[in-house]
Amino acid sequence: MVDILFLADRATRAAYADLLPAALAGLGIDARIMARTDAPRQVDYIIYAPGDDTPDDFTPFTSCKAVLGLWAGVEQIVGNPTLTMPLCRMVDAGLTEGMVEWVTGHVLRHHLGLDLHIHGQDGVWRQDVAPPLARDRHVTILGLGALGAACGAMLAHLGFPLTGWSRSQKALPNMTCLAGADGLIEALRGADILVLLLPLTPRTRHVIDAGALAELPKGAVILNPGRGALIEDAALLTALDRGHIGHATLDTFATEPLPAAHPFWAHPGVTVTPHIASTTRPDTAARAIARNIAGHESGAPLENLVNRDRGY
Ligand code: NAP
Repeated sequence: MVDILFLADRATRAAYADLLPAALAGLGIDARIMARTDAPRQVDYIIYAPGDDTPDDFTPFTSCKAVLGLWAGVEQIVGNPTLTMPLCRMVDAGLTEGMVEWVTGHVLRHHLGLDLHIHGQDGVWRQDVAPPLARDRHVTILGLGALGAACGAMLAHLGFPLTGWSRSQKALPNMTCLAGADGLIEALRGADILVLLLPLTPRTRHVIDAGALAELPKGAVILNPGRGALIEDAALLTALDRGHIGHATLDTFATEPLPAAHPFWAHPGVTVTPHIASTTRPDTAARAIARNIAGHESGAPLENLVNRDRGY
């Protein structure tokens, strides 16, 4: 019997109430899934979604083999000093699929200039605004992990020339892969459209500051489904006001929900989406969690382990 403690709000737990036991049973795991326990030393795994009412003291769980985060980003969890057991983040096929759709949709919006036609039904026949082909529009992706690599594969399939940047040097098909500080400058200089899919860590905070924005070509578009604090808000607003940045479509913010008075809401060069680019999908995520537990129970290493030193 494997004891699993599911630390999340009621609605999140309810979404997995049937799916998780079925996924575990399908892999031959006899599990007891609990929302709370009087026997913390018996807990084998914790499934964890941080929230206002979710406990965050992991000290009592002395036999816990792993904490399995329900979200892809772990910046809220990774610094918890009581969380000393292995920590896995969520890599979920459904979440990845959703992010590929969001990024592709917003890249195509800007590439095709769709706003002009959606908002410009004013009787003027503007045939001179036919968009270029994808092969003439350069996209740069910062972060080539589960999400960045998958978005890159779709954009490459559509014909966009791609540059990607990551901490360690990558070799991905149909993409110029760069790393390091010089690599970042080269990646920014070539970006007609810049997509941010980095995790938030001390090293990536404000990676897009005034200096980085100045490296982007005039009129560049930024999509940020990564994390809000990757961008220095004031520097972005200045670059938008000067016309150096053409548009920013932001899904994530330093403070969420984005306060109603924040200038992003009213800025004509900003599109705000409320952290909906993609989310963990219970059906595929339940199977991913079950696979990780079943694999570990049969001696395989845990998947998607967070490296605490790197912070992601
Ligand atoms: P991941 O697999 O951990 O990939 C992270 C990528 O960023 C890796 O390529 C990594 O480089 C790179 N990276 C990390 N630190 C770096 C640094 N200092 N310099 C350069 N590159 C660096 O993460 P993921 O699953 O793709 O998710 C990325 C982020 O998306 C999450 O952390 C989360 O913040 C965000 N997200 C947002 C939503 C939403 O709805 N808006 C949904 C899910 C996730 P290496 O490959 O060398 O390690």
